[in-house]
Amino acid sequence: MKIRYIAAGLALVASAAAHAQANYPSKNITMIVPFAAGGPTDTVARLIAQSMGKTLNQTVIVENVGGAGGTIGAARVAKADPDGYTIFLHHIGQSTAPALYRKLSYNAIDSFEPIGLVTDVPMTFVARKDFPAKDFKELISYVKANKAKVTYANAGVGSASHLCGMLFMSAIETELTTVPYKGTGPAMNDLLGGQVDIMCDQTTNTTSHIKGGKIKAYVATTKNRVPSLPDIPTTTEAGLPNFQVAVWHGLYAPKSTPKPVVDKLAGALQTALKDPTVKQRFADLGTEPVAENRATPEALRTFLKSEIDKWTPIIKKAGVYAD
Ligand code: ASP
Repeated sequence: MKIRYIAAGLALVASAAAHAQANYPSKNITMIVPFAAGGPTDTVARLIAQSMGKTLNQTVIVENVGGAGGTIGAARVAKADPDGYTIFLHHIGQSTAPALYRKLSYNAIDSFEPIGLVTDVPMTFVARKDFPAKDFKELISYVKANKAKVTYANAGVGSASHLCGMLFMSAIETELTTVPYKGTGPAMNDLLGGQVDIMCDQTTNTTSHIKGGKIKAYVATTKNRVPSLPDIPTTTEAGLPNFQVAVWHGLYAPKSTPKPVVDKLAGALQTALKDPTVKQRFADLGTEPVAENRATPEALRTFLKSEIDKWTPIIKKAGVYAD
């Protein structure tokens, strides 16, 4: 008798879950961004959230959970209900945090369901408008001469700006004073205000300020020049060929989010990446959507693993870590 009740109860739960999946999404979705509002990850998130919302017929709300280089937001998503109503836009930091942090409350691979890659964004090395160096060569000499007197803004250990700064310092064998923020949105405000000297950040944050002459740009940390910033030399052209880093963004859900839900989200992401408004804004900001075959769960899963394998030995060798 008891067994019959349990079986009936299980069948009811299963049919409720199937019903919820078939009707998904029936309410607003929250997209967690692990950095402060107004920064480059936030900008990418807001663009795709709006477009995905149109496809899914629900609002996708962006919530900023900044701090500790993106790991606070990631930890929050790892603990969220796996029902498709919490998703997560992060960047390269998802692959560097496991090597940088001695303790993480989540596993970068096992605590998430990948949805798809979103975009690869070039980085630019920039400074406050009145920073003394006129080109990258002068910047390196100035930094070497002034060392810890020079302040470098970043978004905390594990952020892209942290990674870029770490690679720069190791390339020129000099330590700067780093100033951590909850995201490079607020860091940019301080750079514009002259409270901090230099920063390396995505073109999605720097382009308009470079074009408006509000900050100085020295190099793009890419192999080729960035089409929307054609006057800025690459690191190779500026004499530091080994100093290259680009920031990729990926979209995730918490582990165990049902596959039909993940697939629906991946479909909406792929549609967003073809949306002319998104494509145009991305182009204005010096980036472009990934090809459709990369905006898939499988592609992000494979890429994330390869990025963890790529960055772990580099970070271990640099001896950088956080608790
Ligand atoms: N660009 C930042 C970073 O350095 C994060 C952000 O605010 O989007 O990781």
